[in-house]
Amino acid sequence: MKILVINCGSSSCKFQLFETSTGDVLAKGNAERIGIDGKLTYKTPGKEDFVCLDPMPDHKVAVKMILDALVDKDHGVLSDIGEIKAVGHRVLHGGKYYSKSVIVNDDVKRVIRECFPLGPLHNPANLTGIEACESVLPEGTPQVAVFDTAFHMTMPPKAYTYALPYELTEKYSIRRYGFHGTSHRYVSRRAAEFLGKDYNEIKIITCHLGNGSSFAAVDHGKCVDTSMGLTPLAGICMGTRCGDIDPAIVPFLMTNENMSPDDIDVLMNKKSGVEGLSGVSSDFRDLEKASRAGNERATLALEMFEYQARKIIGSYAAAMGGVDVIAFTAGIGENTDYIRAHACEGLEFMGVKIDPSKNDGVRSEAVISADDSKVTVAIIPTNEELAIAQETEELVK
Ligand code: AMP
Repeated sequence: MKILVINCGSSSCKFQLFETSTGDVLAKGNAERIGIDGKLTYKTPGKEDFVCLDPMPDHKVAVKMILDALVDKDHGVLSDIGEIKAVGHRVLHGGKYYSKSVIVNDDVKRVIRECFPLGPLHNPANLTGIEACESVLPEGTPQVAVFDTAFHMTMPPKAYTYALPYELTEKYSIRRYGFHGTSHRYVSRRAAEFLGKDYNEIKIITCHLGNGSSFAAVDHGKCVDTSMGLTPLAGICMGTRCGDIDPAIVPFLMTNENMSPDDIDVLMNKKSGVEGLSGVSSDFRDLEKASRAGNERATLALEMFEYQARKIIGSYAAAMGGVDVIAFTAGIGENTDYIRAHACEGLEFMGVKIDPSKNDGVRSEAVISADDSKVTVAIIPTNEELAIAQETEELVK
């Protein structure tokens, strides 16, 4: 089945067209600078990339241009737009309402809108993308919303509640939601499949380490805890996000640096993390280079990242009363052997033993723990777009 996957940002619309029977990507690309000028980059395997600089005043025009490119006689991959059987949309926030992906109807759109305050940068753009597709695709083409938060909805109240006055928690639906849910679901399931284990019988810790990083404790197929919170700012320190800090630092900085809530938001989301710490970069390749050259702050940033990862892995094993599988994924988790090794260092006491000969330099799906390690540690490359396509297919079938 041909499924189009759409990930809309405020001024961009990334897309991938899948043939789900094979998992093949037929075409992919990005419509950028929507509302500014417009740039569509379109790639198909075996053909030259195609770039179109026609104006893109809004998302509707952007989606129309993507669809036109897909049926274009020179670089298109479809003879008719009706070949697209459904569209899967990545949606950041489903609030407390959705624990699964859903076919979009008016109620779903209302909930996505209701969650604007919880995902102010993403949810409005995600809804715009849905409405743009509705207006330009043939009538009746199903649209599916795949929420980043849905997989974590199985967490128990003790894991998702913050110790704030209960009335405020209820009034504003303040709680831990967690993100990267599509990736944690995909990676935990794939890890069980790859290792020949029953997903519903084991305890898995998934470590999604990328520019944004999060962890999930998946006990017998259900997420029971995750490191991101009300927003994707919580958890381990990230590329430019500070992660968990003493909340009293917020009023302290506001008072002493004369900062507004917006200033604090920018500081903690865009100027902190390993970039803010090192003053070098948010990219781990740059940090590694700087650290090797003797930059002490780059070394500190890397050590903090590894140490915080190790603490979360240990705490999730404690929360679940054990762990059978630890799975590393995303840009850093898949590509950086020393981060995987250091994140597991010192965890021999709980049966985690990495085999350097299986870990060093490895970037693809593989077991990296020693044969005598009680806990299996693996690299499981994530593929959020394919996961969205598969969930969309399951729903519309
Ligand atoms: P993601 O958000 O999953 O795309 O991950 C992005 C991050 O992964 C980048 O900021 C890099 O720090 C890291 N990364 C990606 N590729 C590599 C690589 N080949 N070696 C080391 N780090 C990498």
